[in-house]
Amino acid sequence: NPPSDCPPDVEVLGRGTWTLLHSIAASYPESPSTSQQSDLLSFVKLFSKLYPCWVCAEDFRTYIGREVPRVESRDDFGKWLCGAHNDVNRKLGKPEFDCSRWQERWRTGWKDGRCD
Ligand code: FAD
Repeated sequence: NPPSDCPPDVEVLGRGTWTLLHSIAASYPESPSTSQQSDLLSFVKLFSKLYPCWVCAEDFRTYIGREVPRVESRDDFGKWLCGAHNDVNRKLGKPEFDCSRWQERWRTGWKDGRCD
């Protein structure tokens, strides 16, 4: 692996980006206003045009066309995003993540207390 002060490859960029996206889900309101919902939807759509891995972005846009982003609540968005991440996991041959546990991974920490 190159030193960490070199430009990111697809993997480093991906890990940092998933951290940001799932963290946005974790801090999204449980009951978002109409304008918060429309901001998140705009963000997801713009992100899908600007993400600087073009094949990744193209597949992500296809996913958005197939599975419309759910922005009605924190848990709806978190589960939708988990599904989008699993779609990439499947494509890359990585294990699928259990989406019922997305909040433990990204918001509350695991029930076994290892993050406390
Ligand atoms: P990552 O997939 O980066 O995951 C980081 C952590 O998130 C994991 O360790 C796990 O704890 C957690 N996690 C895993 N799955 C989920 C889930 N479903 N829900 C919630 N949390 C989860 N790479 C390519 O080579 N080709 C592509 O086409 C491609 N498309 C991408 C599209 C997007 C929108 C993004 C953000 C990234 C894409 N990547 C792509 C990068 C790829 O997804 C990984 O980030 C990269 O391969 C590094 O993988 P990783 O094993 O470190 O874990």
